[in-house]
Amino acid sequence: MESSSSALEELTLESVKAEIYSRNNPTLTPVDIELHAEVVFRILELKKKHNAVILGHNYMEPLVFGLSEQGEQGDSLALSMSAAQAESDFIIFNGVRFMAETAKVLNPSKRVLIADKSAGCSLADDFGAEDVRILKEKYPGVPVMIYINSYADAKAECDVCCTSANAEQIAMDMPGDELIFVPDLFFAQNLERVLDGKKKILYPGKQNNAKGAVCEVHEKFSKEDIIAIRESFGISEENPNAMMYVHWECKPEVLQEADYYGSTTQIRNDIARRVEGGNLEKAFIASECELTSNLMEEFPSVEFATACSVRCNHMAKISLNKIKPILEAIDSGADLSQWEVVLSDSTIKKASKPIEKMLSLSS
Ligand code: SF4
Repeated sequence: MESSSSALEELTLESVKAEIYSRNNPTLTPVDIELHAEVVFRILELKKKHNAVILGHNYMEPLVFGLSEQGEQGDSLALSMSAAQAESDFIIFNGVRFMAETAKVLNPSKRVLIADKSAGCSLADDFGAEDVRILKEKYPGVPVMIYINSYADAKAECDVCCTSANAEQIAMDMPGDELIFVPDLFFAQNLERVLDGKKKILYPGKQNNAKGAVCEVHEKFSKEDIIAIRESFGISEENPNAMMYVHWECKPEVLQEADYYGSTTQIRNDIARRVEGGNLEKAFIASECELTSNLMEEFPSVEFATACSVRCNHMAKISLNKIKPILEAIDSGADLSQWEVVLSDSTIKKASKPIEKMLSLSS
């Protein structure tokens, strides 16, 4: 996707507006564009002036997502890598708080800022360091792999991190026949099925009383939803040019109904491959709504079914009107503490080990 900022040589309100129109995102109405162009312009102007990095998760609404350049957009893994390499003094993270924490752990000398610190995540909020310690006591010596959707203090207790794009590979790279996976209960079951006995996956609730968590967004999809959407939109299993995509965080029975399942980036890349080969006409993505909004812009030749009403309320807290004051505060030299992610040196040191291990294993 051509981003708002990369396409602009001379930044003016008119050029910003023209660029947003030229994106042809079907979810952006002229009213949206006219109402928000000025704030987008101001953010991009200050971004450029202060050489700030704005990282944008795929689940951001299109106008927020477009504040980030191509190399600044992506899912958790891609954004972790971008955060680690960022040279700017300021990293504005348009995603949820655990992601901003990961950026801080990977690049501690930079000031990492998030538009709303209360942007949480049901996976990270419902599972903490103490929950990891309970499992480690129950299964002493067994390595612990934690999903990146967790806070730094929980990561600090673990051996390695993973995302949905690399979990299978990293699980196999860890020593021993057993592995503790936390905290996502559906992800754990999906991983267990994919590994097919090659490694024993221990997770919260499996022959133990430990507490786990689920993604409150992806858990909303049921097998019946997938079957109904297939029928309504003609995404039948027999149609080779129609695809039902399902995210790893969905329930196992939902994954089993998919034509393709994977991480956000894997789904995006599969769409790109099929579009390039001329064999994708229709698709549905069982994931967060704004992912589809952004993919509709990137792949206009595909008819995306928009039956989705599943929005992550945490991601939705990050808005243009909350991002602009951060840049204005940078510009005026005002206090940034209401947006700044702060972690202790010891948490950064301990949490960096599992994240660095993941990056080394997945590079
Ligand atoms: S979509 Fe799910 S996993 Fe992602 S931030 Fe929202 S609650 Fe967390």
